[in-house]
Amino acid sequence: MNLSAEHVERLRGLLSRAGQRIVIVSHTNPDGDAVGSSLAWAEMLRGMGHSVVCVVPNKYPYFLDWMPGIGEVVIFKNDTEGRAVRAVADADLIFCLDFNSLSRLEILSDTIAANTTARRVLIDHHLSPDEGFDVVFSHPEASSTCYVVYRLIEALSGTAVITRPMAEALYVGMMTDTGNFAFSSLTPGLFRAVAVLVECGIHIPTLYNNVYNAYTEGRARLFGYAINRKMQIIEDGTVAYMSLMEHEMRRFRFQQGDSEGFVNYALTIKKMKMSAMFLAHRKFIRVSLRSRGDVDVNLFARRYFDGGGHKNAAGGKSFVSMEETIAHFVRSVREFAEEGHLGEVKGEK
Ligand code: 5GP
Ligand code: MN
Repeated sequence: MNLSAEHVERLRGLLSRAGQRIVIVSHTNPDGDAVGSSLAWAEMLRGMGHSVVCVVPNKYPYFLDWMPGIGEVVIFKNDTEGRAVRAVADADLIFCLDFNSLSRLEILSDTIAANTTARRVLIDHHLSPDEGFDVVFSHPEASSTCYVVYRLIEALSGTAVITRPMAEALYVGMMTDTGNFAFSSLTPGLFRAVAVLVECGIHIPTLYNNVYNAYTEGRARLFGYAINRKMQIIEDGTVAYMSLMEHEMRRFRFQQGDSEGFVNYALTIKKMKMSAMFLAHRKFIRVSLRSRGDVDVNLFARRYFDGGGHKNAAGGKSFVSMEETIAHFVRSVREFAEEGHLGEVKGEK
């Protein structure tokens, strides 16, 4: 991945006057990459003499609670004091991290749209970024936004400015968005970045444990239930889906983040090409999609679930019942397969 030298210089220009009021926003249901990139970038900007407020639309999962500085991230949904609204209204600069479209901010979208004077900078790795940013660092070829932020820090100031808390935050995003360095886009550059973060003093086993071995007992039992009782397999063993209703989640004392990773599990089955998870929320069903290799779930999510994401990890929403959502999914998978998007047509060969 190569950063545009011209865009880096434009960004340097925007940041050249110290003491600016800056807001960093990231997407709804913030994950390790959203939070990690926000925290590291905030520290970088503070080091340059700016005042920074990080805002997320709703709460991050509890297994990120330990991250240095996370307590200062304003959760818009719980922000009864109006800190986010004031910070956004006063901002000279707004950084949008780890999402491609303002609509991904959901309940926070209107607040961000209301500030029409701040300069806006996008730092992201999703396909198809919105128009309307003053500077864009959109790198779908990067495995995480944290890696893009790392490269930006390197280009602006050199990696010597990376403190240990910044390195930890960057590592969390790199680790979580690559499934602990198992998915695609694992480039030599990414591992060089990890080497530098290790030189900054991060302890990888501790970070791994903090994120992946910090779940509740309920989550472990819900996982067993979901795989054993709810996973359905269609299309000759190549597509799997599972659903969780609110009463099922309540039974296992569900907390936000507890279903993290469930959707990936079906892909451990040898022939599996695509996996889906339907999670009931109060007003809609959240759809998570994962795929292997050339199967493009970003396309699938855009076409059938009004969503998007990456080629092998995407999501969307459904506003009909679980039964109807699943029926729509099964029909959509059939159409997708008939068009050849799931690889070779059945019966051929
Ligand atoms: P997850 O399944 O982990 O929630 O999301 C996987 C990927 O899909 C993420 O990179 C996320 O950006 C994208 N994604 C999830 N939900 C939506 C959605 O409703 N709209 C769009 N455009 N992307 C989504
Ligand atoms: Mn990401």
